[in-house]
Amino acid sequence: MSKGRLLLLLICLLLCVPAFASDGKTMAVKTQNTASAFTTASRTVTAPVITDRPVRLTEYRRQLIREYALQHYGEAFTEIIPQVIIVHWTGSPGADGVHNYFYNEAMGDGTLNVCSQFLVGRDGTVFRLTPETMLDRHAIGYNWCAIGIENVGGVNGREDLTQEQLQANAVLIRYLQAKYPTIRYVWGHYQQTEAKQSGLFREHVSGYFHGKVDPGPKFMKALQENLNGTGLLFFEP
Ligand SMILES: [Zn+2]
Repeated sequence: MSKGRLLLLLICLLLCVPAFASDGKTMAVKTQNTASAFTTASRTVTAPVITDRPVRLTEYRRQLIREYALQHYGEAFTEIIPQVIIVHWTGSPGADGVHNYFYNEAMGDGTLNVCSQFLVGRDGTVFRLTPETMLDRHAIGYNWCAIGIENVGGVNGREDLTQEQLQANAVLIRYLQAKYPTIRYVWGHYQQTEAKQSGLFREHVSGYFHGKVDPGPKFMKALQENLNGTGLLFFEP
């Protein structure tokens, strides 16, 4: 390569990378496995400690995702542009069991298995189960634009999520907001009906709906208080 071309390439690299990183509100954040801090234009955000614990991420899963998207949203795709974070509880007591439940690609009926991008253990450990922008099946009508956070707990509908989970969710949500400036909303799964006010509800299968109680108003109220000042939009818990 000539010196001139090399110089051009260097200039392009220098110009392109910061252009992506400095849109004024946020900066590119590398995936990290250790706690650290990064700074946005307006505030410092602590990056969460994230443990990758993927479910089966095969071409078969991607095919099922495309089929799900085609059936429910009218087009076949596997990647989302996140606009909302939806918070759940698992209704079961252990992270291992939840991971097993989400692990396989398909449900018994051959359609895409349920899963969320993140799972938070009772001690606040954050597991990442799929790539953050992979379409996962966790919230009817919103999977095309939603990142899901599952919290281990809520057995028999008991509002028992822990303080450690609250802190982990808050740090994770701040991190995701900084990384994906398209995220504007946070709501609990039980708020799925009033969340239609966001204009984000999309569902091609009529009558497809399941009532939800997770993760309970107590947790959502505490989470909203914790995220006060972030500009994220909540619905009244
Ligand atoms: Zn849920």
